[in-house]
Order: sequence, then C-alpha cells, then structure tokens
Amino acid sequence: MLKNKVAVVTGGTRGIGYAVVKKYLENGAKVVLFGSRKETVDKALVSLKGENPTWEVSGAFPDLGDADVVAEEIRQIKRKYGRIDILVNNAGISDSTPIDNYTSEQFTKVMRLNVSAIMNGILPMVKIMKEQGGGCILNTSSMVSICGQPSGVAYPTSKSAVNGLTWSLARELGPYNIRVNAVAPGITNTDMVAALPKDVIEPMKKMIPLQRIGEAEDIANAFLFLASDLASYVTGEILSVDGAMRT
Ligand code: NAD
Repeated sequence: MLKNKVAVVTGGTRGIGYAVVKKYLENGAKVVLFGSRKETVDKALVSLKGENPTWEVSGAFPDLGDADVVAEEIRQIKRKYGRIDILVNNAGISDSTPIDNYTSEQFTKVMRLNVSAIMNGILPMVKIMKEQGGGCILNTSSMVSICGQPSGVAYPTSKSAVNGLTWSLARELGPYNIRVNAVAPGITNTDMVAALPKDVIEPMKKMIPLQRIGEAEDIANAFLFLASDLASYVTGEILSVDGAMRT
C-alpha cells in the first residue's frame, strides 16, 4: 500500500509510533524514525532489522523542540531519498496532574512537545511537499481532545490544539495536494498506559463499548489507511480509533 513511499515517524521507538513504523515497512515504505535518545533509536532499529533485514529503515534523535535542528534533519532525509511523502507527528507526553499541583512549567513542557514540536516538523516538510507536488501529514491526537479529562489539563488542551492544526492546515494545504489528517486513539496498550495503576485500567475497560483496550496495531492500521491512496480524498479528518469510548 505504500510501495517506495518515504516516511518520517516521530516517537517511532516504541508504542504506537513503533507499530506505525513496522506497518509502513511491511507495506513497502522506506522509513526514518525519530526518537529522543540514541540508545532507544538503536534498540528499535535492531528490533526491526531482526524482523526483516531487507526493510529500509534508519533513525535519528533530533531535539523536536528545536526548530533549526528538526529542519536540518528533515532536509538531510530529503537529500538522501530525493523526496518525503509522509510525515507522522506521533511523539507525545501525557500528564495527569491535578490542577492544584500544576505549575506553569509543566503546562509549557506538554505543549512544547505535543504542539510546538509538531510545527517544527511541519514547517520544513510543507516546503518540500509543495515542491514535489504533494504529500501527507498525519498527527496523533487523542480521544480526550474531544471530551477532555478530569486531571492533567495540558494533555487534552494540547491534543485539541492538534485537531485545530489538522483542520486548518488541511484547508490551507489542500490546493497543494497535501493531505492533513489525525488519528485520535482511545486507551491503547503502550508504556503510556502501562504506567497507570491496574485499579484505574480495569474499570476503564468496562466503559469501552468494544470491551477491550486498543492495541498499538489497531492504531497503526488507521495510520496506514490515511497514508495510503485509499484515503486520496480524505483530508481534515480526525479519525477516532477508540472502541467508541468517548468519556
Ligand atoms: P509511548 O510513551 O509509548 O511513546 C511515546 C513516544 O514519544 C516514544 O517513542 C518517545 O521516544 C517519544 N517521545 C517522548 N518524549 C519525547 C521527546 N521529548 N522528544 C522526542 N520524542 C519523545 O506513548 P504512546 O502511547 O505510543 O503514544 C504515542 C502517541 O499517541 C502520543 O502522541 C500520545 O499522546 C498518543 N496517544 C496515546 C494513547 C494511549 O492510550 N497510549 C491514547 C491517545 C493518544
């Protein structure tokens, strides 16, 4: 479905991002994954090459909060492959701090990675995609972008911003054949959720109409569809993949 496409996936070392990288490789893409540290990037590459040594995958660990560093990394990838077809902005951090314990620094930290860092990737990428006549930008939103959550206000705020950015850029970039969509996962079985206590997770399962927590592959399948030609007329969409849990 993605034969010979070139994709960049941020936060590709584990969880949802890793599943997206693997899904894209299985479907013929060449992938550059971004992580936060050399060790985790190397570990992910060893694991992927172990699954299939012919997969064309490499990695980097730019500081996503530094616009110049990200832009240079993306320009290097363009020089290497000649084009970049897909950008998946997936890196993100969550937060569950109650409002009384909140600091302004904490709010800024979440917004910096979950929102500003996305723009740092999008800005150089839009230039490249316009020059090559099109492309596909995908963002990772969240179920809580629609309904909020009872603590950790920065997280749903950041993900609502991701939706606004997705809708707006889809409208601005449509004339350049650049599609912009987001996937809004529900509760998904990754390290982010494993950090929650069991007595929080179990009652959550009962609130999900499909009666199970999502797997990273469930989310990766949505990212595959949106990146593929099957979604050629889909843009400005926030695709919920949450088993219909909306609270
Ligand atoms: P995870 O914690 O397993 O992975 C997060 C990824 O982000 C990692 O690859 C990590 O390297 C990267 N990352 C974190 N901080 C970084 C930094 N400062 N610089 C660069 N990279 C950094 O989480 P996940 O569950 O796979 O989450 C991936 C995305 O999905 C996030 O945007 C998250 O908000 C979103 N999401 C997750 C869930 C869920 O239930 N797991 C639900 C909705 C949305």
